[in-house]
Amino acid sequence: MTLSSPTSLEALVRPSSTAQHLLVVDDNPAIIQLIARLLQGVGRLSFATSGADALSRMRQQPPDLVLLDAEMPEMSGFDLCRLMKADPDLKEIPIIFVTGHGESDVEVRAFEAGAVDFITKPPQETVLLARVRTQLRIKRLTDELRRMATTDGLTGASNRRHFDELLQRECQRAARNGTSLSLLIVDVDHFKHYNDHYGHPGGDLCLQAVSGALASVVHRPGDQLGRIGGEEFALLLPETHLAGAIEVAESALRAVRALAMPHAASPTAPHVTVSIGAAALPLASTETHAASLLMSLADKALYEAKAHGRDRCEPRSVPDA
Ligand code: GH3
Ligand code: MG
Ligand code: MG
Ligand code: MG
Repeated sequence: MTLSSPTSLEALVRPSSTAQHLLVVDDNPAIIQLIARLLQGVGRLSFATSGADALSRMRQQPPDLVLLDAEMPEMSGFDLCRLMKADPDLKEIPIIFVTGHGESDVEVRAFEAGAVDFITKPPQETVLLARVRTQLRIKRLTDELRRMATTDGLTGASNRRHFDELLQRECQRAARNGTSLSLLIVDVDHFKHYNDHYGHPGGDLCLQAVSGALASVVHRPGDQLGRIGGEEFALLLPETHLAGAIEVAESALRAVRALAMPHAASPTAPHVTVSIGAAALPLASTETHAASLLMSLADKALYEAKAHGRDRCEPRSVPDA
């Protein structure tokens, strides 16, 4: 497939009905009022009158676009922009600088700091609307392309590449904060027999149902579900000890059994079951290869769950010599 024109690209993405969120940051309330009036109806607007205020709002709810005054007391727009670009949670948010300067070096500095565009004060309605709409449209497309690049098309779980990134990030966070981190690897039992008996499309429906059951047992915002292989899923559980991970695994086993999907070809049970390997990093692990250690521990535990009769969870916590 070629992405030859914006139209064909937009045809690829799902239309989104949710209003996009713009944050306007300016220390001058009159400018905020003017921009609010000009942008009425373009998206959901919120406002901040200082860099610190803007940061705390963005951390609570990341906006789709920031209109940023270059000159503010205490924290300038340039400083705020640089802070955002250094923060993994904020760095993808596009920033349009709004400034009173007509000097070209301000424009250069804005782009160097990471801005996507530049508007001079007082903002002209047509220019402001055109530039804001363009950036919001690009943001919607980028979000959708990112979603397509990071999720598995069949189940909607994170794909393998994205899950590996999340695992890496959570290992670093756990080491930094001295918190625990657990991983479950979940593998559908006798899935080759399932495909042989019910056909590949039937197998796909089974994987969707299993993925839904696994998603239903995790509730914390940091928990992540990934599809890391054909019939293999993983659950990443930040700030969770091994005992907590085993509880989640037991819920997952129950949720999959409760699907009551017939599996006439399974030697384990008359319905679809999964086996789970659970592993936890020791508290405050500073192990540089923590991610691969956690994966290999959970994988060994999964092997044991298979060997001990399937439809069960086996845990591992301390690295084997
Ligand atoms: P075990 O209980 O030991 O895990 O046995 P198993 O049959 O589940 O394991 P095995 O690795 O032998 O087979 C996995 C099967 O999963 C084989 C493959 O055809 C099937 N599979 C992998 N990806 C997909 C998929 O996307 N859709 C379908 N329908 N089947 C898939
Ligand atoms: Mg100002
Ligand atoms: Mg299997
Ligand atoms: Mg497998």
